[in-house]
Amino acid sequence: MNTIREDFEERIEENELLNCMRCGFCLPACPTYVETKSEVHSPRGRIALMKAVRDGEIKEYEEVEHSLNVCLGCRACEPACPAGVNYGHMLEEARAIFEEHKNHSFKEKTVRKTVFHKLFPNQKRMEQATSLLSFYQKSGLQKNDSKTWFYENTSETYAANGTCPAQGQSVKTTGGGDL
Ligand code: SF4
Ligand code: SF4
Repeated sequence: MNTIREDFEERIEENELLNCMRCGFCLPACPTYVETKSEVHSPRGRIALMKAVRDGEIKEYEEVEHSLNVCLGCRACEPACPAGVNYGHMLEEARAIFEEHKNHSFKEKTVRKTVFHKLFPNQKRMEQATSLLSFYQKSGLQKNDSKTWFYENTSETYAANGTCPAQGQSVKTTGGGDL
């Protein structure tokens, strides 16, 4: 999987970022800049932050994410821009990239924690998990109540990895075997 910087490089054109000539004409049109008087919360500042991420000049993304989240997405900056900077498109891409990386790392952490730290080292737990899943599938409970404790605590964990035994599919481990 790409890093955040690589995704920025692939999905946000450098030329689009360079179109911003930092003239500042957009500043009075931007409600978050007008309110805060902070460059970080201006279109020009956000474009500079996106460029810094793309160029690998920033390693910690919290401030960038915060700045993009504060942006209202109103695009009032676009008609005010003499260079025709396509700010809205870049904002959408940047937000999507951060969101995708957040989801991925959460899923990855959950599955890794469950499979590698709890199931793999313990043969008995693996056997119990597979037999419980098998019983659950055959019993019809899954159809009757998808919000049971069992479903929430086992199937959804696996479903987070894109596979769900409760739906009759196998769980692929990173070793290539089926669970
Ligand atoms: S008006 Fe356009 S070119 Fe000027 S700073 Fe704002 S985004 Fe950049
Ligand atoms: S979309 Fe709206 S809030 Fe965001 S930078 Fe442009 S004018 Fe400011």
